[in-house]
Amino acid sequence: MDYSRAVESLAKMITFKTVSVRNNPEANKTEFAAFRNYLRQRYPNVFAHSTYEEIGNSGLLFTIKGGGGSAPSVLMAHYDVVEEGGTWQKPPFDGVIKDDVLWGRGTLDTKVTLCGILEAAEQLLGQGFTPKSDLYLAFSGDEEIMGPSAPAIVDVLEQRGIRPSLVVDEGGAIVSNMFPGVKQQCAVIGIAEKGSADFMLTATSKSGHASAPPKVTAVGAVAKAVCRVEAHPFKQRLIPPVRSMLSYLGSRSENGAVRLLFTNLWLTAPLVKLICRISGGELAAMTRTTCAFTMASGSKQANVLPKTASATANFRILQGDTVESTIRRIQKLAGEEITVTKVYASEPSKISLMDSRYDLLAETIRESWPDTLVTPYLMMACSDSRHFCRISDHVYRFTPLHLSKEARGLIHSENERISITMIDECEAFYSRLIQRL
Ligand SMILES: [Zn+2]
Repeated sequence: MDYSRAVESLAKMITFKTVSVRNNPEANKTEFAAFRNYLRQRYPNVFAHSTYEEIGNSGLLFTIKGGGGSAPSVLMAHYDVVEEGGTWQKPPFDGVIKDDVLWGRGTLDTKVTLCGILEAAEQLLGQGFTPKSDLYLAFSGDEEIMGPSAPAIVDVLEQRGIRPSLVVDEGGAIVSNMFPGVKQQCAVIGIAEKGSADFMLTATSKSGHASAPPKVTAVGAVAKAVCRVEAHPFKQRLIPPVRSMLSYLGSRSENGAVRLLFTNLWLTAPLVKLICRISGGELAAMTRTTCAFTMASGSKQANVLPKTASATANFRILQGDTVESTIRRIQKLAGEEITVTKVYASEPSKISLMDSRYDLLAETIRESWPDTLVTPYLMMACSDSRHFCRISDHVYRFTPLHLSKEARGLIHSENERISITMIDECEAFYSRLIQRL
């Protein structure tokens, strides 16, 4: 079969087992090094026309000198992946192409964007193209474990006094059927992302034999605290990115009632919040800080009283709340007998501007996928790009792929795969974007 260069490159990239392992930054080191070697031989023009630096554990920074313009840009991606998990219909690391579909871990998240960026740059630089302003390609190899490479790259850029006027990383995509009454496909650009935190709630009590128990055991105390926290969800708020998304998509709805409801948020906000709450899922999550208890532990044996018992929850913090205000609220709800400790925490991101730089990205999307509505949104998940908010007011999270609900479900799951048309479209998008920078 005759596939494009980009498809062949991505198929090869999938064969490197660049799996990130939590608490073990040394894991699969040789695979990561081999992946970087592959880039060097596969992209000679990029290496010849840029300064290449390895930063921190696995960060890669390419600097392509521009023609004197003063609006530097950063295109981001990561080349680590999560472990294979589950049972696959095709091997996860062989780069198998069958019926115009490439199978493997990282095809969607997100070796495809790394490949698209490098393929586009390779081609353009080979033709003698120079961007108007300096262009940085920033790739990390530890995004999946919230590693230190991306912040290390930001440190370097900050020390050099670089303030990017555009940063594009993975995030929203092109989706269909996302809003009632909107038939057109929509490109959603994350202009902010929620914070993320894990807090552990711990209770202590006397240990001993379970045959002579106290009135409330440590497990009981923790359980009560969990119930109190769950019974008191965080307050709902419509923050600017969510407001913009709802009113924009509302205005495009063919359903008159929906249009009326969402284009008059000054009046209908309470009702809209109620609808978000009832519909649950992502829509509800966009309107408040969420809390999900995910882990619990007590005694190791059924007939032994635990000295301590704990429950851990993951919080996704909405702009307006902070890690500190969240932990304070949880401590208050849990009560004095419970100790609340921070296991991990990352603040919600700044909200990026929607000005001419946003428009440049939106125009490139519309040029690549005509008849597509482009809307801002709030991203629920974390990406490396949040670190760039430190040095830029223009951080946008957009993956140039048309992702069906099914495809979105394949990310971090078994049978991750991508159609080869999407690989070529991804490269074409980056080529258009780079030529505007
Ligand atoms: Zn990713």
